[in-house]
Amino acid sequence: MSSLTQTVSALSGVGEALAAKLARLRIEQVADLLFHLPLRYQDRTRITPIATLRAGHEAVVEGEVAASDVVKGRRRSLLVRLKDGSGILSLRFFHFAPAQQQQFQAGARVRCFGEARAGATGLEIYHPEYRLLKADDTPVEEHLTPIYPTTEGLHQSRLRSLIAQALRLLDSDAASLPDWLPTGLRERFHLPELHASLRYLHEPPPEADIERLAEGRHPAQRRLAMEELLAHQLSLRQVRLRIQADGAPSLPSGRSLQARFLTQLPFPLTGAQQRVLDEIGHDLECPRPMLRLVQGDVGSGKTVVAAMAALQAIAGGCQAAMMAPTEILAEQHYRTFRDWLTPLGIEVAWLAGKLKGKARLDAKAAIQDGRAQMVVGTHALFQGDVHFQRLGLAIVDEQHRFGVHQRLALREKGEAGGLTPHQLVMTATPIPRTLAMSAYADLDVSVIDELPPGRTPVQTVAVPDERRPEVVTRIRQACAQGRQAYWVCTLIEESDALQCQAAEATREELTDALPELAIGLVHGRMKAADKADVMAAFKAGELDLLVATTVIEVGVDVPNASLMIIENPERLGLSQLHQLRGRVGRGSTESYCVLLYHPPLSAHSRERLAVMRETGDGFRIAEKDLELRGPGEVLGTRQTGLAQLKIADLERDRDLLERISALAVALLDEAPEASEPLIRRWLGEEAGRYGQV
Ligand code: ADP
Ligand code: MG
Repeated sequence: MSSLTQTVSALSGVGEALAAKLARLRIEQVADLLFHLPLRYQDRTRITPIATLRAGHEAVVEGEVAASDVVKGRRRSLLVRLKDGSGILSLRFFHFAPAQQQQFQAGARVRCFGEARAGATGLEIYHPEYRLLKADDTPVEEHLTPIYPTTEGLHQSRLRSLIAQALRLLDSDAASLPDWLPTGLRERFHLPELHASLRYLHEPPPEADIERLAEGRHPAQRRLAMEELLAHQLSLRQVRLRIQADGAPSLPSGRSLQARFLTQLPFPLTGAQQRVLDEIGHDLECPRPMLRLVQGDVGSGKTVVAAMAALQAIAGGCQAAMMAPTEILAEQHYRTFRDWLTPLGIEVAWLAGKLKGKARLDAKAAIQDGRAQMVVGTHALFQGDVHFQRLGLAIVDEQHRFGVHQRLALREKGEAGGLTPHQLVMTATPIPRTLAMSAYADLDVSVIDELPPGRTPVQTVAVPDERRPEVVTRIRQACAQGRQAYWVCTLIEESDALQCQAAEATREELTDALPELAIGLVHGRMKAADKADVMAAFKAGELDLLVATTVIEVGVDVPNASLMIIENPERLGLSQLHQLRGRVGRGSTESYCVLLYHPPLSAHSRERLAVMRETGDGFRIAEKDLELRGPGEVLGTRQTGLAQLKIADLERDRDLLERISALAVALLDEAPEASEPLIRRWLGEEAGRYGQV
């Protein structure tokens, strides 16, 4: 074991208690200390003449006490006047001991550090760190002083000394922390060497650009951020390679079955749907698993595309499965597929976690013996006890709830024929291109960039909640004209239970206010069958108004619904609002979305609601969301490891993202052996194993 891969307990002074604290900072090996970078720096390397001090700056000042007094202002304080020949400064202590007062005799020499501010006597430093100087005193610091992120009970000085130990080990055993980027590659990409970067960041020289460091834009920082992003990219590519190393069934385009489906469909495909289908069709013909993401805004018609792909698999003698993230959505897809495919003589099966007893056994049997050619369900579909006879295509709707691990797990579902199913993932979260290239490096991307014709854009208004009665009247009018409406209650706290209670209360209140309407309720705590019944009744037009929690966010399709009220929209992210709003505007009538907010709004919330009023374009909304909330939130934490970056910051380092693919390609070409250790370094042992077959 080399010196840097030892656990931290190998360092002097590290016992169990300290090791536990370090573990809270995700520091386990000695090398982890080196990658624990400072948040900011203090400059204690030079003494600043008092005359050049500015308010708001931290500095070391050295001088002679001119006077010290206890003064009475609004609060009693000890005021020490310090002069250095260039000017005079006050040190002020609100808490002080009599002994302290004694120390500051006129003529005593003091060195202190703190932030200067404009005070009652001119520039002052409150509660500086200070030391009385002796004749033979130590000089100032050699390096900028790093301030590290830390945890309770772990002092900066302790962290600094541990990191200093780690740096000494790096000096004596440089080989134990290899720079995996070859020199030529580093030079082409203008990246400094690893060890030099780490040393620089822990011990910056006095002349270092402290502001650039504070912004995280110093070349040494960018080198590490780049390496981290590279590791994520490599890990996704490795997942892709690993999946594609397996064979997949080659599925010739199933033209006649697809043609029969299209003739029974009441509309022609849009050009964008057709183009994306061509791309999918081509992938399915290859004996290598397809890994394709289809991005298409809400309402762009992804379900038909999924059905056409499924038909190609079925025509090729395979089964197709479609998985949705919620039961409501899965149930709806099930009904759609059943209506579409049964007339073609195809058996469609349904499977969800809540399906129990005989029904479950029957469904599993039909899946296993191949009678069920199309299977629709929730993630229950891909659990261990479900066996497919010959799964050729797995479709995952609403990708942002599905991660790399599940994608790998799908490989095992091709078990019977030894073939891995093709994978098609669909998302309505339009992600800006550079981000998509990083977050989905393991997928090919197709975009449905056109909505079906005849859609009228949804008119969006923001209304303060004191005008609730007007909104109720509006619902009455819409329903009187045979339209339907949604009323969405948003999260009150981080509590599902409270959200459901609020939705129940709203339903009662609206039932009192609108006695002539049939009003239904769906929320996350209802039984799956009850939810499905309510959704079916709403879809059939038996309910006028549906009160719901955000469970209806994804995918629900009821074209006759033309009015949506969203309560407290200021609590939701833009992409989520866009998803919700996408539930209306699906038919040919003019649709409305009312954002019923609770005043006063913060400037930030006002800006977000304004974006919703101004545009219906999912890509623009996603860009804005990214700007306002940052990529971690937009992508969702579960989706990719990118949400847990240690050093890189997707927002700040957006320009790096554009170079990551090129760097990954170059590295795999010039030093393929570096890929796995880089993944291990940044994503841990487990991710390193993805790549092993
Ligand atoms: P999403 O992309 O949000 O999943 P859906 O697949 O639910 O969208 O489609 C939204 C609505 O548009 C559905 O009612 C669907 O039948 C309809 N639709 C899909 N494609 C077309 C088309 N080419 N022309 C007209 N309507 C279409
Ligand atoms: Mg959909």
